[in-house]
Amino acid sequence: MKSITAYKQLNLTHLQTALPQLLETARREQWTYETMVERALGAELDGREQKATARRLKAARIPSKKTVEGFDFSFQPSLSERRIRELADLSFVRTCTNVIFLGPPGTGKTHLSLALANRALAEGHSVLFTTLAELAQSLESASHPGLMRQRLRRYIAPSLLIIDEVGYTRLTAEQAHHFFELVAARYEHGSIILTSNTSFTGWGALLGDEVLATALLDRLLHHAEVIAINGSSYRMKERRTESRTPSTLSDTARHAAGDLPTGV
Ligand code: ADP
Ligand code: MG
Repeated sequence: MKSITAYKQLNLTHLQTALPQLLETARREQWTYETMVERALGAELDGREQKATARRLKAARIPSKKTVEGFDFSFQPSLSERRIRELADLSFVRTCTNVIFLGPPGTGKTHLSLALANRALAEGHSVLFTTLAELAQSLESASHPGLMRQRLRRYIAPSLLIIDEVGYTRLTAEQAHHFFELVAARYEHGSIILTSNTSFTGWGALLGDEVLATALLDRLLHHAEVIAINGSSYRMKERRTESRTPSTLSDTARHAAGDLPTGV
């Protein structure tokens, strides 16, 4: 009975769960005392690591799991596979370098960001995924300065912050200022992966302020890898493939209604 409390007091809950099985195996395989102690500590450590990984994954708010292996580089010849594989070694996270994916819709910007995020999580880094619209709204809805600082901290704290879809939403003056504040706060402290369909010259209009845009880009790009993808949309490729072999009724119906491109 006493030992049950001891596990709790020492916070050895994983060991407590694993122990009956461990003892049974130890008896059956006649483990030495050393092996038993090693396995017992190992069970606690493994359990803690798994829990921490699960917690990090939940906190990252990753919308879907994507991998570098799942990316078809032959579809995007303008993109250097070697460069992406180099990024996947994560030295950019360690050196607080930013990664900017630029390109039209469907070219895999979000996919590659998520794939790098996935690698970073596996390596034990803290990650947070957001879109610029979500970020701007979250900071804007902070009703008082204390809450604002707390919200800002949420985006500053992770080792890697992904800001997806920069360019789809024009920012208000206040939102643009918050965006600048965040980029400035992470500058040389933590990496940002950012995706945009808008080239940097368009960021003045996006932020509604050329001077602010210049100051933001100055910090964002000082230590950054800019990867421009000039290709066609993978989504359209999938639609074209579907339209050639309509496999479901709804595909056929959409096809008949002219929704899917044909003959391309
Ligand atoms: P973007 O963010 O540039 O608009 P996404 O990354 O969202 O594009 O890609 C759209 C969809 O196509 C996603 O489901 C993504 O996984 C897939 N995709 C895009 N490019 C590729 C590729 N080269 N290989 C495999 N899947 C791809
Ligand atoms: Mg995207």
